[in-house]
This record gives sequence, structure tokens and C-alpha cells, in this order.
Amino acid sequence: MQTDLMKYYTPEEQKAMDRAFKELVSSAYQPLSRKEKALIKKAYEVAKEAHKNQRRKSGEPYIFHPIAVARIVGAEIGLGPTSIASALLHDTVEDTDITIDFLRREFGEKIAQIVDGLTKIKKLPKDSDLSIQAENFRKLLLTINEDVRVILIKIADRLHNMQTMDSMPKYKQERIASETLYIYAPLAHRLGLYNIKTQLEDLSLKYTDPEAYEEIVTKLEKSAKDRQQYIEKFKKIVEGRLREEGLDVAIEGRPKSIYSIYKKMKKKGVSFEEVYDIFAIRIIYKSPDIKQEKKLAWTIFSIITDLFKYNPNRVRNWLDQPRSTGYQALHVTVLGPENKWVEVQIRSERMHEIAEKGYAAHYKYKQGKDEVQEMGVDRWLNQLRDILNNPQTDTMEFLDDIRLDLYSEEIHVLTPKGDVVSLPKGATVLDFAFYIHTDVGLHTRAAEVNNRIVPLNYVLNSGDVVHIMTSPTQKPKFQWLNITKTGRARSKIKAFLRQEENEIVEEGKAVLQRKLRHLKLKYNDDTIQKLQKFFKLPTSRDLFYKVGTGEITNENLKAFVDSQRLFSGLFKTRWGRKAKPQPIEGEAVNYDLIVFGKDEQRFDYSLANCCTPLPGDEIFGFITINEGIKVHKKTCPNAIHLQSRFAHRIIPAKWIDSSQQEFKVRLKVRGADRPGIVSDISRLITLELKYDMRDIEFHDLNGVFEGEVAVYLKNTSQLKELMLKLKEIEGVEKVEKL
Ligand code: MN
Repeated sequence: MQTDLMKYYTPEEQKAMDRAFKELVSSAYQPLSRKEKALIKKAYEVAKEAHKNQRRKSGEPYIFHPIAVARIVGAEIGLGPTSIASALLHDTVEDTDITIDFLRREFGEKIAQIVDGLTKIKKLPKDSDLSIQAENFRKLLLTINEDVRVILIKIADRLHNMQTMDSMPKYKQERIASETLYIYAPLAHRLGLYNIKTQLEDLSLKYTDPEAYEEIVTKLEKSAKDRQQYIEKFKKIVEGRLREEGLDVAIEGRPKSIYSIYKKMKKKGVSFEEVYDIFAIRIIYKSPDIKQEKKLAWTIFSIITDLFKYNPNRVRNWLDQPRSTGYQALHVTVLGPENKWVEVQIRSERMHEIAEKGYAAHYKYKQGKDEVQEMGVDRWLNQLRDILNNPQTDTMEFLDDIRLDLYSEEIHVLTPKGDVVSLPKGATVLDFAFYIHTDVGLHTRAAEVNNRIVPLNYVLNSGDVVHIMTSPTQKPKFQWLNITKTGRARSKIKAFLRQEENEIVEEGKAVLQRKLRHLKLKYNDDTIQKLQKFFKLPTSRDLFYKVGTGEITNENLKAFVDSQRLFSGLFKTRWGRKAKPQPIEGEAVNYDLIVFGKDEQRFDYSLANCCTPLPGDEIFGFITINEGIKVHKKTCPNAIHLQSRFAHRIIPAKWIDSSQQEFKVRLKVRGADRPGIVSDISRLITLELKYDMRDIEFHDLNGVFEGEVAVYLKNTSQLKELMLKLKEIEGVEKVEKL
């Protein structure tokens, strides 16, 4: 192999890559056995051979990238040999001749699975469109279901790509940076990888706002000396006292990340110099065993607060209740030397390691320890699985729900039995109820917090004791979505409402069948379509729903029957002859959009090349792996094959006329006031044009009136007509769309 490789790499390059590889092995956080080292070495040889033809944009051999990713995986994230080997191989299947089967044979099932997961992620479409990113994000999270190591290695891959993006075109840099900020940094945060999250954010800023980034970097460098002097001063004051108590500590200063300083400047509209907490002081102490950790932390706390004034509102106790990411520490803000407020973070070496390494360190300490608290990430992953398994329809909403959880700060509340529940800041009693159990959430009637009855939208505070009261007749309402914050509660409520909506739709369908029979009309596609037209509804689902809720009454249905007779029925009733259903004149259906599933939802799609369906054709959707939904004709020669082999990837589809879809418009109307002008306007909209008016509000300002109306319309020509007719009303001078 070596002789062959000489054709591809210079001797210097070979030396450099072997050195990089050795460095990767020796920097691994977890101790490696000889066998494990051999596995990693083999992965390295295979990857080196596979990538021999490739070079990165910078010109260096490609293999340096997988080595660097594996080093992040092993040293910074602290994962074991399986992950390190997988990281070395992560780009082989996508970019070279190596197959998953080959990896399975050579490295076993686990590594093959992980690399397969990583290959799938690579194939997700790349786009700066938020909705595509959202969908990708969901698919990414789905891979957590398989193995969380896939995500961890992907994060490492992204970090190295961000570190080496300089030779890329600018538009790519920007796309990758924004995606990183949007997806990968929150994920890293949630998985407890603080260092990596910080690096990802800082690097993203470098490409999304280079000027601001440069400014902060320069100013941080300039002020580094002052900072160091300040920390020395602080050290001098506290070190002696800490030693007197027999404490073994390391004291260091830590500037806040570039990105967090940037955010603060933006949020408060201040300059770099005005951000007062540019850095924090860390006191890392040795503890002989885990039982004494907390006691020692409080000893340090009392020494520090003895020496300096402190702000009792800025004490954060994450000792007893670690954050759900596993972070543990005691933070206090004190009035330090030079009368400057400074945050002091007190942590044991163990806590520090967890803060730096996150996930992996947790497991290291969990093993063999009996009473280390349950890892928050596990809990989060379980909840995530729960949400993913829920029939979730709107990806953007889903993403928002999840992202909300990713970054929110935490509170800790108690059940009546004294169990601690961690929830994001701002969570209400209803979130708590859903956390306890879905059934409890769905039937929450009232709640008691600290023995006082509170409303369901009551926002919880740390330390609250919460008791939920349920009732079998209670059920979720739309409004509940406004008073819940956690992804878990929101997805459960949405699933329930959707289910309930489905029941109304089914009910409406049955009612409509019955009523049509009474009216001597056939219940078939043709009638349904005419009804849709008549009531101006985009989908049959809307029709059934409105019948189900009673919004479409018997009277309305009779009006429909009358309208049909006008066109085709007169003779029929007179002569008792059966008339054929006739198309209504001027009502040619203008199919221009495809909707999917029984809920008739809108997704992105493309038309299959094999049969190229035309508007109005009977169709179905096929969910492809790489190209989203492809639409085929039902008569497509491929249809039978697809339906029999990939039934689970088939989704019902149909053409609709999207011009029947309504949208809400707000108009601003201004003019000279006169009696009756408001009623003239509303009469025009509701009676003459028969549009659906939703809101009207007018003010009189000394003979001049100004107001707003909200109207549901179907298309821009309706809008134009409405604006024109409004202007014709006497007194109206100006009409604008808002
Ligand atoms: Mn890669």
C-alpha cells in the first residue's frame, strides 16, 4: 500500500499525515487498549487509501480533514474508539468507491451504521431556504434515534469545516455559517458541548458579520493584558484565604465568547467598552471525593463573599440541580477589585470536566457511581424521540418548538412528592402537566402552586411545588398553544387538536352524505367539487369540516341546490327526467397546485420525468431519498412497482385550484368624514361584493376619518376590484394595503 501511495502524496505530506494521526491517538480523552488502537489505525489506512485522489480546496490532501474530525471526536468531545474510527471513515462512502457493505465486513455493524447515518446527512439538500433547513434539521434529529454518535461526529465535521472555510467562495461561507448558527450551535449547546458550541458561534460570526467579528477580536486582544492584571489582583486577595482553609484551587480568567459579547452589544445597543461582563473568573477546586464537592463549593463561596460584596440576586446554584445539559457549578457576581462587578464560577475538577466535555465526561463519571444525578441529555433525547414519534405535520412549527427547548434557560420545580422537574424558563403549569404525563396534560383542569389555586397560564418559578388537578371531561383548546412553551406540551396539544379536527371532518362527511340524500343529490366527487366551488373552499377537507362544525347549514346547502337547478335542473324537475351533471359555465377548474395526504397539505414537490403528470390527472406522491416528493400519474408504468415495493413511501396526492385559497388583507382607508360612511364601506364589502370581512375599525379625527378593514380574499384581482370600489365611495380619498 505504501509504495502505491507514494504516487499520490509527497514524502513530506506522508510524514505530516502520520504525525497528525499519532497526535489524534495520543490526545484521545478515553484510554485506548492496544486492540482499539489497532482498529483506529486500520480505519486510518483505509481512509488514506480511499481519499488518495482527493485534495481539499486549500490544496492539502483530503485525509487531513477526517483526521482532524476524528481528533475533535476523540479529544474534544471525548468519544471512544468506535466513534474515532467512524470519524476517520465518515466521508469514504459518499466520496470514494468504498461501500457500506465493505465497512460492515471490515469494521463491523456499528461503524457501518454510523457512517451510513453520516452519509445520509451529507445527502440532505443544501439550501439557504429556512423551510428546507428546517426539514433537514428534523431528518438530522431523526438520526439521533439511531445513534447519538452520528450527530456528535457530524458536529465535529461541521466544526472542522468551519475552521477551514477560508478558501471557499463567499456565498458558500455565508450559507454554511448561517446554517451552523441555526442548527449546529444549538444542538452542540443542548448536548453539553460548550466549547464546541462557542467555537461554532464565533466562527459563524466571522463569516456572517466579519467587521463586527474583527472589531471584537482586536479589542479582546488589546484588553487581554488589563484583564490578566485584574485577575492577578483578584488572585492575590483570595488565594491566601483559600489555602488557609486547605483548599487546592486553580484560578483563571475566562473571556466571554466573541459571539456572546456581540449578542450583548446588539441587544443592549452598547459598544464593546460598555459590555461590563467581558470575562468571568473561574475557581476550579480539587475534591477528595464526590460527597464533599458541594460542601467545598459553599466554603469557597463564603470566603469569596466574605472578601467582596456580592449581589444576592445573581447567585446561581447549579450544584443541587444541574442544568439539563449536565452543567454543574455555583456562580456568584461580586464587587471585585477596582469596584468592578465580576462573575465568579466555582466548580470542582469533575464539574469542570463535564462542562468542557459534556456528554462523554458524564458517562465516564456515571460508571460505577451510584448517586450521580440522571443525565439531562438522556431525558432530553427521550423527549425528543417522543416528539418525533408524534404525527407532526408542520416542520417549521416543529423546528420552532424544538429550538425553543434548545436554548432556553431552566427552572426547577417540585411535584407534591418532592420530585424535581426541570423545565425551560417561562414554562407554565400546563407545561408541567404535560411533563408529568400526556394524559395528565390533556385533562388538566386546574393547578395549585404552593397550595394556591392558579390559572393554567401561570408561569412557574424555581422552587414552586406544583399540584395538577385533572378532570375526565377536560380537553385541550387552541388557546392552550399560547400558554405552553415546551416542545413536548405543544406537540401533544397539536396532535390532539389535529385528531379532534379529523373527527369533525369525519363527522361532517357523514352528515353531508345524509343531507345530500335528503336533497336528492348524489354523494360523489362531482358533487363535492361543485360544493367546494359554491362555498369557495380550497379542499374537500374544509368542506367537511365546515359541515361538521355546523358553519355550513341546511339553508346553505339548499341555496347550493337552487344554484345548480338554475343551470341544469329546470327541465329535470318539470319532466322528471334525470339530468346529467353539467359543468357550470365560466367555472372551469384551474388546477395549479398539488396537495398531499388526507389532510391535503402543501409540500414542495417535483413532477416525475417518467410520466409527467398534467393538471387534473390522477396522481400520487412518492417520497424519494434525495429529491423530496416526486409526483407520478396513477397510470405511470412505475406505479405498480413503487407501490408494491415502497408502500410506506407513497403519499396520496391530488390537484387543486389554489386560487380558491383565501388570504387575509388589511386595508387602510382615509377620507373626509360624513354620516354613514362606515356602513357604506361595510355594505360594499359584505353585501355587494360578498367578501368575508373580519374586522373594521374607524376613528374620527376632526372631520377626517381613518380606519382599517380586514377582508379575506382569493386573489389580487379581487383586491384590485375592492380597492377601486372603495375609492368610489363618496368621501373616501385614500385606500392602501397594509
Ligand atoms: Mn466531512
